[in-house]
Amino acid sequence: MKQYTVLTLFPEMITQAFSHSILGRAQKEGHICIEAIDIREFSKNKQKHVDDYPYGGGAGMVMQAQPIYDAYASIAEQKRGRIIYLSPQGKPFTQKIAEQLSFEKNIIFLCGHYEGVDERVLEELKVEEISLGDFVLTGGEIAAIAVIDAVARLVPGVLGKEESFQQESFSDGLLEYPQYTRPAVFMGRTVPEVLLSGHHGKIQQWRKEQSLLRTKQKRPDLLEK
Ligand code: SAM
Repeated sequence: MKQYTVLTLFPEMITQAFSHSILGRAQKEGHICIEAIDIREFSKNKQKHVDDYPYGGGAGMVMQAQPIYDAYASIAEQKRGRIIYLSPQGKPFTQKIAEQLSFEKNIIFLCGHYEGVDERVLEELKVEEISLGDFVLTGGEIAAIAVIDAVARLVPGVLGKEESFQQESFSDGLLEYPQYTRPAVFMGRTVPEVLLSGHHGKIQQWRKEQSLLRTKQKRPDLLEK
């Protein structure tokens, strides 16, 4: 079973996000376990503050090192593994990274808030940084949810059929071909003839061509790579 532990100020965001659909079922079936640890519970002050003003001045607050470190330390030894800090300054997340992470038994995700996290705890925990893209979110939870979702669905047994993700966009460096389902005619638009032919070879060939065409039209940068 894969263990994903999220250090967060908003544990309910994480548990809610994964209580439905495919990943909810995958947890019930024991393929994955997603746990959220509330960093605030490790605050040592009465008001349960976890942030303070930045040294050197400036706007906003910074998450303190101690509650984060103690939250990490509370994780049982056998559940520890790579620790990923979701950060706009990190390596941009890709399907390739998702594939690599899907082999890890344990992953810890650290979600920042406010102006971010005291640099010293990032150094002490030797975090890897992953970004969802070149934009700034209010907190790391949405990024952690996106990364866990993309990683967990690659874990064997999580999706109904293993082949469901084998021909998807990015799995072979291309975007996926267009998909159609019933009815065969919708508002005068018909399904491409070949898909109704039952000829497996021709369908495969058509899908390959469409995949290339789509990538050329929508993401020519992928073809250049
Ligand atoms: N002051 C920080 C900076 O300029 O680099 C941004 C802090 S942001 C408002 C608060 C938190 O949201 C970050 O600590 C991080 O955990 C998360 N976050 C924001 N943008 C993100 C992104 N693009 N990818 C992943 N996490 C992000």
